[in-house]
Amino acid sequence: MNKKTYFFETYGCEMNIAESAAVEQLFIARGWEKSESAQTADVAVINTCSIRETAENRILGRLGWFNGLKAVRECRPGAKSKMLEEAAEYVRNGAKPLTLIVMGCMAERLLTSFQKDYPFIDYVVGTYAKHHFSEIISAVEEGRKPFQIDDSEKYRFASLSAEPGAFSTFVPIMHGCNNFCTYCIVPYVRGREISRPVEQILQELDTLKKLKVREITLIGQNVNSYQGAGLDGATVNFAGLLRIIADHLRKTESTIRWVRFMSSHPKDFTDDVIDVIASEPVICRHIHLPVQNGSTAVLKAMNRRYTREQYLELVSKIKAKIPEVSLTTDIMMGFPGETEEDVEQTLDLMKQVKYESAMMYFYNPREGTPAAKMEQIPEEVRKERLQRVIDLQLQHTQERMKERVGNTVLVLAEGVSRDSDEELLGQTEQHEKIAFRADRKLIGSFVNVKITQLNGNTFKGELIGP
Ligand code: SAM
Ligand code: SF4
Repeated sequence: MNKKTYFFETYGCEMNIAESAAVEQLFIARGWEKSESAQTADVAVINTCSIRETAENRILGRLGWFNGLKAVRECRPGAKSKMLEEAAEYVRNGAKPLTLIVMGCMAERLLTSFQKDYPFIDYVVGTYAKHHFSEIISAVEEGRKPFQIDDSEKYRFASLSAEPGAFSTFVPIMHGCNNFCTYCIVPYVRGREISRPVEQILQELDTLKKLKVREITLIGQNVNSYQGAGLDGATVNFAGLLRIIADHLRKTESTIRWVRFMSSHPKDFTDDVIDVIASEPVICRHIHLPVQNGSTAVLKAMNRRYTREQYLELVSKIKAKIPEVSLTTDIMMGFPGETEEDVEQTLDLMKQVKYESAMMYFYNPREGTPAAKMEQIPEEVRKERLQRVIDLQLQHTQERMKERVGNTVLVLAEGVSRDSDEELLGQTEQHEKIAFRADRKLIGSFVNVKITQLNGNTFKGELIGP
């Protein structure tokens, strides 16, 4: 008998990628296989994102497509097979229904309206209900009708969030957010902060060693506000957790050689975190430190709880203690009340910090957040301000990367380059891409590569040795 197949479509942040991978592991453990196409899968899972309206609208559009796909798969009269030819061929000998599951932040935010307005979705699984997936898989295997899911429980961390076969994976260490930045929907959909106990994190690291994982990124909406239960029951903070992880990886002679983390809130970035990074080579010299805006007035309206000066002081401290650090950030332009002067302040802050790269957005009002009720700046002005920030960042990225040409760096070889069969594509400790000629058997290893050239945002290099 053919194995049952699953298909994933994941939107949004690292947390969603990790949660999709964790659910995928459940399907694999039950003997299911991945399908490359939703059109012929038994189950399709859409993991959704609510952070910006544009993201939600795109997903709502995709739901319309999935509704059409379900109609074809059920051989409903009048079902249109345009763009669904693969599904039409698949059901040539009779209906093969598709189970559609929507999970993630939109599922949490729009739970009841999804159930009412999108009845073709078989299961709406909020972020607090992911552990029901085993029951859902059983119901599909047994051909049972979809059942109602209880979403009122506590958040549970999955034991493994690795994508099958990946050398780099995310390890969730905390969930939720207590900060309530005035623009952000996350605290409403992900709930209050909870930290994963140290023991569970170390157990996952041991599993990742068995899977020969080389690089991990500790993730959470606010990783550095981590306050988890230690092995002796006492609370451990983020710096403490980094030390415990570094020790554990050393003692267990783990395959993991790089540890990253994201996102850090500048207000929680304490000196002891800087000290651990400076003293533990396993922690990458790459810090993602979202600033959001360079003006103290805007930061205050955003409820970020640090000033421009405090942020710049933090950056100076980091650069002094970790000279080779690369900094990346998130910037948001066009927040209500932002003036031309504020824009200049952001551009100036960028020039002072010289980020390696940045995620840049224009402000997007989210229903239910305080900023959505403030007087809005016209969208074209928000977009124009964003463009100025993007243009400056592109210059900085080029400058920062050019400075590194000629250096020999440690690289994790991740796969074959898309441009040439004879080249591998890898990643540097600073999270840059680098292509170099090397044998495929080096995929998955750390190698030393001399950076010889910069092509767009990808380095070219020469393999020096292991
Ligand atoms: N916790 C992280 C922090 O404090 O920086 C950010 C997590 S959030 C999922 C990722 C990024 O989305 C934010 O840094 C912010 O720049 C952006 N973002 C959040 N809400 C937004 C909104 N309403 N409009 C535009 N961008 C938004
Ligand atoms: Fe959103 Fe602010 Fe929490 Fe980050 S810290 S998730 S931006 S509320």
